[in-house]
Amino acid sequence: MQLLDGKFVSEKLKQEIALEAAEILERTGRKPHLVAILVGNDGGSETYVASKMRNCEKVGFNSTLIFYENTVTEAEVLNKIEAINVDPDIDGLIVQLPLPNHIDPEKITEKINYRKDVDGFHPINLGRMQRNLPSFIPATPYGITLMLQEYGIQTAGKHCVVIGRSNIVGSPMSILMAQNSSTGNCTVTLCHSKTPDIKKFTLDADILIVAIGKKNFITADMVKDGAVVIDVGMNREISATTKSGYKLYGDVDFENVAPKCSYITPVPGGVGLMTIVGLLKNTLASAKREIYK
Ligand code: NAP
Repeated sequence: MQLLDGKFVSEKLKQEIALEAAEILERTGRKPHLVAILVGNDGGSETYVASKMRNCEKVGFNSTLIFYENTVTEAEVLNKIEAINVDPDIDGLIVQLPLPNHIDPEKITEKINYRKDVDGFHPINLGRMQRNLPSFIPATPYGITLMLQEYGIQTAGKHCVVIGRSNIVGSPMSILMAQNSSTGNCTVTLCHSKTPDIKKFTLDADILIVAIGKKNFITADMVKDGAVVIDVGMNREISATTKSGYKLYGDVDFENVAPKCSYITPVPGGVGLMTIVGLLKNTLASAKREIYK
């Protein structure tokens, strides 16, 4: 079994990103700039956004965090997005999900200028991705493909089973794995909560990607010997034994599944770190006008 080491790969890719950011600064006198909007005090979201901002600074980007209390109106957030959309100093804009119930995430996502949509959630980016056109690819699936590439994992002709069909992870992931590309060309099965007998599918998976949000859902008896297992799950539990006061668990029972795998991502230290790389690469591409002129 080999660990897909998100810490190692993300550090390496961030060094490459930092070199490019330095080159942009020298050539243009400005740094790539990411803005994040955070609404409310969801513990997980605060941690994830803080980490995104910290990583921007690490690679030489500017970053701005805009925080709103839970009581902010939808109109106020939409107005702020409109202003950012036309601000020439800003390359990328993300709105951290989940949002409070009175704010419609679809409205927010569609309001973001797709040319600055570095989370890749806007329907224009998703549609372009599906057609294999240049686009911002959702950061988590993007990070996973970078990880597969880095370890030289062969995907062509393999059976990839994706569990979870969310707009931000499972669904775009399934499209990328089926696409005619160097990290695609799989035969893909997409499972979700209405799939009966999931084990029948997981046992046949050469590559198993799990994104459902249920601690230790995938157990050893569900995994084929030699499978590649990618665990997207981030299940946060309060813990008295960690400095932060909580502990992260994946969707995969790592301890018992790992011995059966050829490769597996740990949680933490796997997909989460690669998601940040995906976001940074999209922001860099936006600053370089690589996707949209
Ligand atoms: P989501 O929007 O809640 O979607 C969960 C998906 O899992 C849904 O499609 C749901 O099916 C499916 N599902 C739920 N229970 C299931 C079951 N028992 N059997 C089969 N399918 C089941 O979640 P998400 O945003 O994709 O996130 C999934 C997990 O990944 C969460 O733990 C989240 O924190 C984590 N995450 C991690 C990163 C990272 O960077 N590592 C990034 C994003 C998300 P239905 O569609 O039928 O309801």
